[in-house]
Order: sequence, then C-alpha cells, then structure tokens
Amino acid sequence: MSARAAYAGATDTGLARSHNEDAYLVEPPLFAVADGLGGHMAGEVASAIAIETLREEVRPDSDEEDLAEAVRRANARIAEAVSEGRGRFGMGTTLTAALVRGTDILVAHVGDSRAYLLGADGLKRVTRDHSLVGELVRKGTLTEEEARHHPNRSVITRALGSRPDVEPDTYRVSAGPGDRLLLCSDGLHGMIRDNEIEDILLRAPDAQAAVEALLSAALDAGGLDNVTVIVVEIGETPQDAEGRSGRRWLAALGWLLAATLLVGAACLATYQYARHRAYVIDEGGVVTVYRGIPGELAGIELSWREQVTDVRTADLHPRTAARLAEGIPLDDLEEAMDLVAQYRLMVSEGSTVTP
Ligand code: MN
Repeated sequence: MSARAAYAGATDTGLARSHNEDAYLVEPPLFAVADGLGGHMAGEVASAIAIETLREEVRPDSDEEDLAEAVRRANARIAEAVSEGRGRFGMGTTLTAALVRGTDILVAHVGDSRAYLLGADGLKRVTRDHSLVGELVRKGTLTEEEARHHPNRSVITRALGSRPDVEPDTYRVSAGPGDRLLLCSDGLHGMIRDNEIEDILLRAPDAQAAVEALLSAALDAGGLDNVTVIVVEIGETPQDAEGRSGRRWLAALGWLLAATLLVGAACLATYQYARHRAYVIDEGGVVTVYRGIPGELAGIELSWREQVTDVRTADLHPRTAARLAEGIPLDDLEEAMDLVAQYRLMVSEGSTVTP
C-alpha cells in the first residue's frame, strides 16, 4: 500500500447534466481526457472510442508521431462507428493525452480540454484551446475574463469525429521532479479560474487529494458541465514496490529509500507552497516584505526578504503594529505589496490631518 498517490483521475457528471459524456484513461505512462460532444448519448460513444483507441495503439515507448497517429486513428474510428450505426452523425470528442516517462512528457491535443503543468514558476498551460473564444483571446480580441462569459464559449474549432483529416497539436515538455501535470475537461477550467486551480494543486498533499479538491471546487462553482480531472506527480515512478528479492535487507533498504523519497516529496511540496506565499513583518521598526511563510518549519526557514519599505511601524495604528510584530501572512507577493501601499496611504493621510 502506498501512502501517497503518484497519480489519480476521476470524473463527475456535475450538477446540471443528466449523464456524463467525458471519459478518461489513467494507465501509466499514458493518461488522457476526452470530452464527448453530440448529446443524446452520442458524445459518450465518441469519447469512449477515443480513449479505447489510445489504450490499444499507444506503447510505453511511443514517440510524438506514434501518439499523433493514435489520435488520427481515433478520429477514423469515430467516423467508422457512425457509419456502423453506433452513436450518431455529428458526434465528436476532444482528446488531450499525455505520455509521461520520468520528467519527459509528450502531449497530443485536439479540442478545448487542457493540459497544465505546475512547475517551479507556477501553473502553465501546455495546450492551446481549439475553441472560438480561445482563438479570439490569442488574437487579443477578447480577454480571458470575457471569454469565460462569452455566449459562444463552448464552440470548438477542432474535434475528433468532425472531419476526415483532423490533426492533433503535439507538445514535448521537459518537466522537473516534483512538478504536477494536470489534464482536465472544460468542466473544470470553465468553472474555476487558473489561479484557483494553481492554489489547489499547490496545497494538495498528493495527486488523489488534488483530484478530489479540484472536482469539488468545480462542483462548488456550479458544476454546470461534466468534469474530469487527472493529476500526475512528475518524477515519481509508480513501479511495483514489492521487491522481487527475498532478501530482507534489500526490502528494508527499499523502504528506507521510499521513506526518504516521501519526506523529500513532502518537503518539496511545502517549499513550492512557501515560495508562492508572502508576508509582511516589523523588522527594526520598519515594515518589511518577505516571500515565504513566517517562522520556521522543522528547523528550516522558508522565507526570502523581498523589500525593506519606507513605512515605519510607529506611524501605523497600534493594532496594526501589533499584528506586524507577529507577521501578517498573505496569498502572494502582489497582495503583500498592496498592503504596503495601503499602509503608505494611511500614513500620508494621517500626516495631512495631524500637522
Ligand atoms: Mn465539457
């Protein structure tokens, strides 16, 4: 039994739909999300065919071209199914697939499901949406926020099953150990913003917890669509922990190594969390901004001084000064800077009143 899940996936019908047309695959090294389109249960047929085709065609050593070919094959199979009377004309599916080998990630993608990578610099989108609003955002015609509320936000410009010659985008990503890969349908990213996704991914202790937290966030936000989420911890090889050797010391060594890795991964997660946070504190009578978290954790300091400001604690309200003595934790550096700006304003307003 492993204490921490290296990968996990789950899907939920959501709160507004009668059935789930999403499908997903969690068979390391292969992971995929498909969001079926077409309604009347045809979407379910299309997404299931896409996932099944990948499972059959992709090998652990497949390269980018093999992966793209498997996606093309899935497209052809959906068309064949329609001609055989399974599903119905016009059915289709998105497909976002990732082949994860150590820190090397291959992605093939069609539609508006997404792959994200949480790395040392935060959350990055790996894929570009094949959607009307996605293209308008890239052209600068719409903002990300306008796209979220656009009436045509669900119009997809590329999907499997729609044309005989669908070409997937492929990406090769070199991740770092401790990074987290996220695959999801638009039932997640249509309901919650990227910064919320990032926050949840950063805080979750493992892949299983991340998947559960992301799903419930999408449902809390309204759950207007089927939602599917896969999270993979990069750099952890989910190989069988049972040693084949009967020798006890070898098994013990394995457990020791596993425990070390576990502690290492937990430290890394804490470190990643810490470096995105910020706090302000009174240091020598001056408000000082830090990245990280105040105090120390298991004897390790997780903070980096960012700025010694020109705001003197003595000029602030005594209650604020008292809080500053302890340090005030904030979500990120931007929030910390905002707070300092507020202090500055308070000080300058105070000085115009009292000569
Ligand atoms: Mn959807």
